[in-house]
Amino acid sequence: MIARPDPAKYRFVMRLRDIGITDSRVLAAVETTPREAFLPDALKDLAYADRPLPIAEGQTISQPSLVAIMTQALELAPEHKALEIGTGSGYQTAILAKLARRVFTIERWPALFESARETLAALGIANVAFRLADGYEGWIEAAPFDRILVTAATPERPDALIGSLKLGGVMVAPVGDRGGQMLMRYRRTAEGTVEEALTAVRFVPMLPGLGKSD
Ligand code: SAH
Repeated sequence: MIARPDPAKYRFVMRLRDIGITDSRVLAAVETTPREAFLPDALKDLAYADRPLPIAEGQTISQPSLVAIMTQALELAPEHKALEIGTGSGYQTAILAKLARRVFTIERWPALFESARETLAALGIANVAFRLADGYEGWIEAAPFDRILVTAATPERPDALIGSLKLGGVMVAPVGDRGGQMLMRYRRTAEGTVEEALTAVRFVPMLPGLGKSD
């Protein structure tokens, strides 16, 4: 039997092309990752609307077009070891896992850490290591990384994380405060860190320490 294409998902994939997602590996990774699996039941119908949606602990699953933009900006290759700060629902994690050899992801809320682990296991994604911690210092035992993606905003450039990049490594991170944030790309080179501002964004702030559920 041939599966009937979901019209909302079809429009969503067309939209990714419209906004400049040209990397066919990124398009394929997004197309084959079921966003509904990362959402609470009441919101599954909105999985292919291009908007951020609430998940547990007052956090959000990022807008899918932005997930695609960040993923493309990261220039992942199949041999890469990648670090993600801010697992959230695990949606972005799952996409990274399809494009990199191994993904390390850190989340500060126990409930999100648990449910992301369960969702990825249910999808059969096995090349991800999860950690419940404050991600600000990175994952020292697994460093250095080829790629780092930060999915919560820091007021300043996160230099501690740049220190965990290999030479030639790339980090994509939202930087700024409530007044405005920029999605930044940092490249670690022999001459120092090269910065590029990619696009204006709005992410939840990176918070210190572990989240304590009531
Ligand atoms: N990319 C994820 C969610 C992003 S929201 C998705 O699409 O579902 C940002 C996430 O970063 C939230 O889950 C938040 O709890 C987490 N976060 C915030 N500060 C953090 C910190 N210091 N260390 C680790 N994770 C953090």
